[in-house]
Amino acid sequence: MTPKRRQGQLIVLSGPSGVGKSTVISELLSERPDIYFSISFTTRQPRVGEEDGVNYNFVSKETFEGMIARDEFLEHARYVDNYYGTSLKVIREKIEAGVDVLLDIEVQGAAKVKEKCPDAVFIFIMPPSFEELSRRLHGRNTDSEEVIEGRLQKAREECKQIPNYDFLVVNDKVSDAAAQIISILVAEGCRTKYCMDMLEGV
Ligand code: ADP
Ligand code: 5GP
Repeated sequence: MTPKRRQGQLIVLSGPSGVGKSTVISELLSERPDIYFSISFTTRQPRVGEEDGVNYNFVSKETFEGMIARDEFLEHARYVDNYYGTSLKVIREKIEAGVDVLLDIEVQGAAKVKEKCPDAVFIFIMPPSFEELSRRLHGRNTDSEEVIEGRLQKAREECKQIPNYDFLVVNDKVSDAAAQIISILVAEGCRTKYCMDMLEGV
């Protein structure tokens, strides 16, 4: 049992494209179906097998820019020629209802969330090596060589931001990475600052 919190926990997961975030998140959500996964908005084209409203909300550049103008994002960023953003409304409703919310976002967006929500837990997922990251990006078979090169270059820059994260998880084996994240969340839930209700009357 972990102490009951008044609000949900905001969980921010980042890591290079192709490291296996979506794969680890699927495993994590199968173990923790109570966590709400935030479906981002993006202007990128859907990959084979991706569904609108499931993996992302796929929108046009005009729609995305309208949402920026109306201040509808908790954060948004440009990543390899596309926009990505997290809608504020749903996140706020879930957190206030006591539901834990998971964001899969890149490092610029995570930095913005850290400014606005310093109590969120920030987890970075690393590949066991850059050679393995390249193998995974090629193995996924969804991006052109040019896009893969851009993503590999971006990965090295992103890893420089690791010191801004609370936890580092290496995705060598999917089940181990998911288990480590679950352990991190259990530990976070036990922080004394969230347990003060239990001390009332002691
Ligand atoms: P991301 O969401 O980080 O872009 P994906 O979850 O799409 O990455 O994974 C990229 C590719 O790597 C996929 O083909 C996936 O099956 C594979 N993959 C993910 N995790 C592992 C792992 N631990 N070992 C080997 N392959 C993996
Ligand atoms: P992909 O195109 O591979 O699905 O995602 C590219 C990058 O965009 C990944 O690093 C992913 O974490 C990030 N991303 C996905 N959704 C969002 C979002 O809403 N905001 C930000 N800042 N990044 C996102």
